[in-house]
Amino acid sequence: MGRIAQNLQQIDEEIRSVCSKAGRNPSDIRLIAVSKTKPAALVKEAYDAGQLDIGESYVQEFLEKQGSEKLSGLPLQWHFIGHLQSNKVKDIVGKVSLIHGIDKIGTARELSKRASAKNVAADYLIEINTSGESSKFGLSPDALLSEAPYFFDLPNIRLRGLMTIASPDRNKAREEFRMLAKLLEQLKKISPSPALLTELSMGMSQDYDIAIEEGTTMIRIGTAIFGSRQR
Ligand SMILES: *Cc1c(COP(=O)(O)O)cnc(C)c1O
Repeated sequence: MGRIAQNLQQIDEEIRSVCSKAGRNPSDIRLIAVSKTKPAALVKEAYDAGQLDIGESYVQEFLEKQGSEKLSGLPLQWHFIGHLQSNKVKDIVGKVSLIHGIDKIGTARELSKRASAKNVAADYLIEINTSGESSKFGLSPDALLSEAPYFFDLPNIRLRGLMTIASPDRNKAREEFRMLAKLLEQLKKISPSPALLTELSMGMSQDYDIAIEEGTTMIRIGTAIFGSRQR
């Protein structure tokens, strides 16, 4: 078995072990393999080991990889997990199964416009800055609750939940994951379609065990699958 297949198996075992202690069902947690900066050949290796959900952070790199000879035509589910600028929305609409990092109503409006023009429905999550660090992207929890009605109103796009990147400190990360889970419950109360709000995208290589304990439905793991990155 290759290294990537081994890593995937190890993570799968860890997910099962944490779930069993936390009283959760492992099938309620989707593993997204984050392949940013890594070549298509390694994504193919993950696919051959049974991994279908793939996360990318940079638009150009994503487009090249998706269209590459090694990967085009495979039944992969692509997740755009990076910060999405409004002017790049048109490049990925219709090509990804979920956009994780919308953090402005303007970007959501652009997504709605482009999805309508293509006659497709786009699923997305709103990124929340749960740590309050100014270096991080994301809406503040307060801004989310006050701006939510504008997001709910947009045609051809479906808000499916919330995403966050937690602080490196594990204790802080746990508080931030809790905050995100609570925020999703608050959002459900004011949403016209609460049944769509099923997703919490939280947890990475260093903290996915905590995220599982705090209710995550999607963990985004790069390093623990593909090894460390240069950038
Ligand atoms: C790179 C990245 C990840 C994966 O991080 P690892 O620490 O390598 O697991 C997850 N989420 C986002 C948004 C990322 O940019």
